[in-house]
Amino acid sequence: MIVFDQVSKTYPDGTVAVAGLSFEVPNGKITVLVGPSGCGKTTSMRMINRLIDPTSGTITLDGEDTAGIDKVQLRRKIGYVIQNAGLFPHRTVVDNVAALPRLLGGKKKETRERAMELLELVGLDQSFARKYPWQLSGGQQQRVGVARALATDPPFLLMDEPFSAVDPIVRAQLQQEFLNLQQRIGKTIVMVTHDIDEALILGDQIAVLRQGGHLAQIATPQELLRA
Ligand code: ADP
Ligand code: ADP
Repeated sequence: MIVFDQVSKTYPDGTVAVAGLSFEVPNGKITVLVGPSGCGKTTSMRMINRLIDPTSGTITLDGEDTAGIDKVQLRRKIGYVIQNAGLFPHRTVVDNVAALPRLLGGKKKETRERAMELLELVGLDQSFARKYPWQLSGGQQQRVGVARALATDPPFLLMDEPFSAVDPIVRAQLQQEFLNLQQRIGKTIVMVTHDIDEALILGDQIAVLRQGGHLAQIATPQELLRA
């Protein structure tokens, strides 16, 4: 479980991005952060893996304060998927997926074998392994991004607009496949989207933020649709 307890972030220029945010992200579920541009979604998410440090408040992972966890350990525990996948352009698909496990000391053969399994898991067959990112469609790159985020077998996954850079038909397909994948792997997921339909499709719970980084509401899709 991820717990935000009175978390605030004021940037050095005085911008209040997040203000007194408290909520819980239950294990094995998808929690989606939605809200208008600039309401603090990305800042909130990046404080979980400490790409950004909170100004005040605490974030715990299964009871452990993230402020006390070594950043390398945090990267290992928390996979991160970003819009446009952010793949290394000069590395093959398989090496993109194996990169972090290699950096963390994994053996070449084992990390590659695991990478091949993960590619299969996200629906990419062997023929993609030796290609470079520019040889893939946007949807295929995004699949590689998901495989890469799973490479250290992290219990937590952060996803920032993971499917928004692809066309609507591919997006719908990726969403469905991602739900199927999540049924098998049961990660604890925080996802950011500005697309309320995506939030309703993918979220087990939805945290609605409003300008200034306040929590307006946290509810299940069913509760939101009833309102
Ligand atoms: P969202 O993801 O909901 O669009 P962000 O978390 O990116 O929102 O941004 C929240 C607020 O913080 C916005 O007003 C944004 O302009 C501001 N902001 C984001 N990053 C910085 C930064 N590095 N320095 C100053 N202000 C920032
Ligand atoms: P089984 O071992 O019965 O096939 P698993 O759920 O262990 O079932 O694995 C199913 C697939 O998911 C396998 O391809 C495996 O490599 C992959 N897998 C298992 N655990 C994870 C994980 N934490 N992250 C990513 N992929 C995983």
